[in-house]
Amino acid sequence: MFYKKNTQEVIKLLNSSLNGLSKEEAEERIKKYGYNELKEKEKSSVIKLFLETFKDPLVIILLIAALVQVFLGEVIESGIILAVVTLNAILSVVQSKKAEGSLDSLKKLSIPYTKVIRDNEKITISSRELVVGDIVLLEAGDYVPADGRVIESQSLKIVEGMITGESEPILKTEEEIPLDSPLGDQKNMVFSGSMVVYGRGIFIVTNTGMNTEVGKIADLLDNAEGKQTPLQQKLDEFSKKLGIGICLLSAMIFAVQVIRGGDLASSFMFAIAIAVAAIPEALSSIVTIVLAVGTNTMAKKQAIVRKLPAVETLGSTSVICTDKTGTLTQNKMTVVEVYTYENKNISLADNVEGNEVAATKNSIQDRCLNLASILCNDSDVNNEGIEIGDPTEIALINYAALNKIDYKILRDKYIRIGEIPFDSDRKLMSTVNKVDDETIMFTKGAPDVIFSRCKYALSNGEVVEFDDEILREYKQINEDFSNQALRVLAFATKKVEDDFIPSIEDENELTLIGLMAMIDPPREEVYDAVKNAKNSGIKTIMITGDHKTTAMAIAKDIGIMESDDLALTGAELDELSDSKLDKILEKVSVYARVSPENKIRIVRAWQRKDKVCAMTGDGVNDAPALKQADIGIGMGSGTEVAKDSSDMVLMDDNFATIVKAVESGRTIYDNIKKSITYLFSGNLGGIIAIVFALFANLPNPFTTIQLLFINLVTDSLPAIALGLEKPEKGVMNMPVRDSKESILDKETLKTIGIRGSIIGIVTIIAQYIGMKSSPELGCAMAFLTLTLSRILQTFPSRSNTQTALKLGFNTNKYALGAVGVCLVMLFTTLLPFMRGIFAIPVSFGLDSFVICAVLALISSLMMEVVKLIKIK
Ligand code: ATP
Repeated sequence: MFYKKNTQEVIKLLNSSLNGLSKEEAEERIKKYGYNELKEKEKSSVIKLFLETFKDPLVIILLIAALVQVFLGEVIESGIILAVVTLNAILSVVQSKKAEGSLDSLKKLSIPYTKVIRDNEKITISSRELVVGDIVLLEAGDYVPADGRVIESQSLKIVEGMITGESEPILKTEEEIPLDSPLGDQKNMVFSGSMVVYGRGIFIVTNTGMNTEVGKIADLLDNAEGKQTPLQQKLDEFSKKLGIGICLLSAMIFAVQVIRGGDLASSFMFAIAIAVAAIPEALSSIVTIVLAVGTNTMAKKQAIVRKLPAVETLGSTSVICTDKTGTLTQNKMTVVEVYTYENKNISLADNVEGNEVAATKNSIQDRCLNLASILCNDSDVNNEGIEIGDPTEIALINYAALNKIDYKILRDKYIRIGEIPFDSDRKLMSTVNKVDDETIMFTKGAPDVIFSRCKYALSNGEVVEFDDEILREYKQINEDFSNQALRVLAFATKKVEDDFIPSIEDENELTLIGLMAMIDPPREEVYDAVKNAKNSGIKTIMITGDHKTTAMAIAKDIGIMESDDLALTGAELDELSDSKLDKILEKVSVYARVSPENKIRIVRAWQRKDKVCAMTGDGVNDAPALKQADIGIGMGSGTEVAKDSSDMVLMDDNFATIVKAVESGRTIYDNIKKSITYLFSGNLGGIIAIVFALFANLPNPFTTIQLLFINLVTDSLPAIALGLEKPEKGVMNMPVRDSKESILDKETLKTIGIRGSIIGIVTIIAQYIGMKSSPELGCAMAFLTLTLSRILQTFPSRSNTQTALKLGFNTNKYALGAVGVCLVMLFTTLLPFMRGIFAIPVSFGLDSFVICAVLALISSLMMEVVKLIKIK
């Protein structure tokens, strides 16, 4: 019953202190009580996965075939089919476990972090390492990482719907509650999994992991991610339909054969052959592997994909709406200009005596500005010199340090007794401090907002009316600074009652002190990234809370804003109706002073135009816009809530990483397409040869075992290797793909048709050549030619825009390796003791092999010729 006790008692009871636990103690407690995590549901067991493979239509067909063969007395043949089916099941279990493992490791990269005090130092640790007794710091945008008792609340508001069902934010307090209270009324407790939407606070952990309230009520965490992506689902559905179609076709051919008086057994084996040749058995697991490998490569480039479908969507992104601060810029702010009315540009150092600020009449504005920038500021530099907090605020204490002012001494002397935290809707922050005998409120924020809240201004050390002339001068200076791409903050103050508790309504009737302006240079790599995006038909839009002029200056510099582009402020956007917005949407490349609601409107407007829209966000209020966007992109340094609502997280906050991720998305999609084209063309080649044989009254060219060998063994490796191809040259110069377009678009179907026909024709030729000696040799040569041309097809399949020669054979080692391994496997079928199994007669000698190899080579060459004709 921690809520009934006062904070001192709770801290004592938990054997902790306000300075936090020591590192050693925390480690001890982890050993004793375990990690702060909810147990996950058991993953699908290996046996379940194994049995699931037997639901596959192909496997069912094969089992039937094996059964029929037992009746026909072909026991060895039947045994081999069963062995292949089992081997295939084992392989697919291994593959899905591997893919699962790599997705798991991806998930570990995006585990949440928590700010705690340990050994009297603010540090950030993984939430998993929290222990009972830890002192945790909370701010807007954090998820509460464990259950605990609040020991400080600065307007701390928490939504705890998932625990209490209450959707309104609850204001937390540190006061004890003597009466028995249900969870919803325990206002001095916080619960794991709830979300801080406002304010700041500190709590001491009372329960972790499965002992938390959410641990008690929630079922074990369902590992829902790992679900199939839309592409996988579509392909699976397609495979199923294809399977049914093929079964019907096989049944029809079987019937025709029987009616034509063919013998039952061979007619049946023909039908089975067609089914086995046509069904792309390896397809689904290949797509899974390619996606898993692709997302891991993206993670190495700092883009963590949280939801697998994002990979596909990324490839068709046509608009990127990006934050400015930190994403396009370095978020390394430095104060470069200071302005106070009638007392311009006096260095702070002129007004400082040692660590004290001199209170001379002339410099009273600077003294005030100085105090406001240090006291109305949450940032800090810890004992190891690490800067903690908002870069805007860090810039202010760095500026003070530059002027030899020790901000820590001032903060200790003029203690803070109240505050209203910054939020990007209000664009203001206020604190109340004891300054000598007076209680003073300091407010800082966006100049336009501060100006509208001021009634007075400091002028030459006197408080004067904030009249039009002063306002004009301030606006001019603000505009001048903004034109230089500077971020400007205004500072104001007012005297308040001694026991004053500030609220938002009090940020009025202020006295304006002055301005500080800081540079935040663009990231170097952003210039190229914006250019790259533009070349590939992607529009980049800057959406920022900053001033319009500042935003435009930066947008022009980095190439986002062109001469006839427009910039809108959030207020101007509010004035526009949807239809008016739709008319100018394409022209607007900068939105400034936006609120998080504006962001949703912008996304929706683009979605009305059927564009795939990516949107970045970091604050707690950005969550709805991130969810609305086709691809919500959270910032690694952003709030947990924003990260949790996003499809992808940028570990380095960098815009250039988004463009790289789009390139990866396009490449992964392209590669999956290449694998599919490869598999389907090969299958079509086989079917053409079988159907031709059927109607030309030739013997069935392939046995079931041969087809299984090709489909499951020699086709899988090259298909996976194709999935790992590097990006096509000029992948970012291609126009944006239509997100509704099917992966088997017209062009792909045409390619499959052409390549399949080429393979089919060379296979038929081989059968005819072999049949001159014997029907058995004809079949064996057809098998060898089909397999070889499918293996060699790997090379022309590697690129749609370049021939294999131009691409270079060693640019994809996996493809070379896959072809090598497949060839070795094919040669083993020619070994004397294997020939029986693969129906290769003794008459098949080197001369036959050379003919097959030449035919296969011709087929690959023809594919390259077709490609060359298409490129030209
Ligand atoms: P972006 O959306 O591109 O990240 P931003 O960081 O400028 O832009 P916000 O953080 O919402 O957006 O800030 C909006 C405005 O609020 C800023 O332009 C600045 O004037 C003001 N501001 C920013 N940080 C603070 C702060 N810590 N205290 C007071 N005002 C601030």
